[in-house]
Amino acid sequence: LAPSAESKPSHSFGNIIPHDPSTSHRANATLLMLARNSDLDGVISSVEQLEAKFNRKFNYPWVFLNDEPFSYEFKRRVKVLTNGDVSFGLIPHETWVQPPWIDEERAERGRNMLTQDDVIYGDSVSYRNMCRFNSGFFFRHELLTPYKWYWRVEPDVRFYCDLEYDPFVFMEDHDKIYGFTISMPEWESTIISLWSVVKEFILDHPEYVSPNNSMGFISDDAGDSYNMCHCKNCSISCWEKSLLPLTQFGQTLKLPIWTSGGAKLTQNSLTISRIQEGFTMRQVKYLSCSCHPDRTQRWGDAPVHSIAAALFTRKDQLHFFKDIGYKHAEFAHCPQGRQWREGHCSCNPNDSFDFAENSCLRHFMRLDDDWMFG
Ligand code: GDP
Ligand code: MN
Repeated sequence: LAPSAESKPSHSFGNIIPHDPSTSHRANATLLMLARNSDLDGVISSVEQLEAKFNRKFNYPWVFLNDEPFSYEFKRRVKVLTNGDVSFGLIPHETWVQPPWIDEERAERGRNMLTQDDVIYGDSVSYRNMCRFNSGFFFRHELLTPYKWYWRVEPDVRFYCDLEYDPFVFMEDHDKIYGFTISMPEWESTIISLWSVVKEFILDHPEYVSPNNSMGFISDDAGDSYNMCHCKNCSISCWEKSLLPLTQFGQTLKLPIWTSGGAKLTQNSLTISRIQEGFTMRQVKYLSCSCHPDRTQRWGDAPVHSIAAALFTRKDQLHFFKDIGYKHAEFAHCPQGRQWREGHCSCNPNDSFDFAENSCLRHFMRLDDDWMFG
């Protein structure tokens, strides 16, 4: 059902045919960043790169969200970097802080345990707030409701290559839901209870699981246990409006699902992506569980989104953006061969996390032998 690349000449690949906004269609999409005022330098660095490598040609709007008001200085320094529209939003308090029904004593015991184990952000309450918000709330923020798709960007990341086509339009044209660039295992001790909650959910709602899912990406034993694989903030997720979103940079997802509430999964192909988004949204809503007691465990938003994307969409709706050169912390994805040359990539193609022993890319690849050409 997905249109082929040939039948949709709406965007160009490579560097020869320049993007022409007057003849290309655009997606209803935004570049999204969660940040603190203190992240300003890293924000500027990320925005500057993504503008130069991609958005200068496309002028997608940016949305910045913060749990505190952005400073005048922050807004002034960021707005000047783009020709696109920029919005700065405040996250409503009740969608950021720990919900009142969480047993704080239990939560504190969980934090202390992770701290003893030297788990990164183990004792951080604000990191948990961030993960909870990114899992289940961000797509409901009023600044995001106009959009169907988002590309999640973080401060202090690197974009290595020119992107000459529109990844949102690509995803829309090919019926993709979630796109990523880096996948790796999560720290097991942060999500001990997550998989049992997922299994419980699947048992309650088998109808939500796509018959053509990617269980092989996230489980090595057909769903009995989670292999910790997740897509690490490299998401372009395109969320369609009435559906829910699933991703991070590298993550692209469809948005509206989350807000549609009553969507049901049906086999009606006309509305399938919308419904799946809604579907996903309910799932994510459940998992992100601002409402689950085990949320005290510091579940990262990346495993929550990745599990939902893997189980509630078709495997051909996940997309590995192998042509997007991206680095987060010490983890980099660098394109290879022709894509590296044509993207004028500044990364070393031999230095890509894809080749690391603990990269989850091979788990994704084993879903489909065509991954290299997809
Ligand atoms: P990591 O990538 O999991 O190591 O986590 P980061 O520290 O990079 O945080 C992920 C994203 O959330 C980044 O965009 C941060 O700027 C943002 N973030 C993290 N903590 C907070 C917070 O307390 N407030 C706000 N406004 N943003 C935060
Ligand atoms: Mn980060």
